[in-house]
Amino acid sequence: MSATRRLQALTFDLDDTLWDNHQVMVDTETGHYNWLDEALEKWQRSRGNAPIRRFAEHFPLETFADRRRELAAANPLRRGDFTWLRERALLALLRDYGLNDSAAWLWTSAAMSRFMTLRHRVAPHPEVEPLLSELGRYYRLASITNGNVDVRRLALSHHFPVAIAAGELFAPKPDARPFLAALSRLGTPPSRALHVGDSWREDVEPARRLGMQVAWISPHIDDMALPAGIHRLNHVRELPGLLHRLAGTGRD
Ligand SMILES: [Mg+2]
Repeated sequence: MSATRRLQALTFDLDDTLWDNHQVMVDTETGHYNWLDEALEKWQRSRGNAPIRRFAEHFPLETFADRRRELAAANPLRRGDFTWLRERALLALLRDYGLNDSAAWLWTSAAMSRFMTLRHRVAPHPEVEPLLSELGRYYRLASITNGNVDVRRLALSHHFPVAIAAGELFAPKPDARPFLAALSRLGTPPSRALHVGDSWREDVEPARRLGMQVAWISPHIDDMALPAGIHRLNHVRELPGLLHRLAGTGRD
């Protein structure tokens, strides 16, 4: 029996595997913070409380990032729950800015809602939709992400009957638990699954340790000898070729 026929399931990382995430994060980060700064200033003016210093002047974006890092260090269980870290850091900054509790909560929630809208403006590579449609005919598919993208908000969600948000499990990758949760819901042992991801530390190492095959999306590395079971690809569009090679038939 061929390797591809033995494989039953494919699990996918999302950010920088199915789309380029860098610009999405830059736009999301600056976009929601600027939105908050402007909306807050308007709100204060409308109440006759024009601020002496605007929020983003008082707390530049770097201060917000520092606050999240401090919170992650102080709450190790939450270190992968980026939504929680963002929400709590923003709430603390807004309180420090002088807002009372209910106003701080209100503006945190409005800014997080803006953040989530921008965060989901991802553009999957054009090959991804047909690729998942085709692969879904032969394999059970799952997504496993540390990021705060909610797959259910994306057009490609129908391809993933199983979607694991690792941060919310309090066990971000490289923890084995999100992989085990996905495999258990798919009803597949690790030896019959292949994980696709771009991070050596968060995707390749933990999946391989469990005995999964791995497709490592890594375009910037010249070919190098890799341990058995790890296959480097330049782009996710090369995945069907890899599955054919693993099958050894070139026809599956
Ligand atoms: Mg990734």
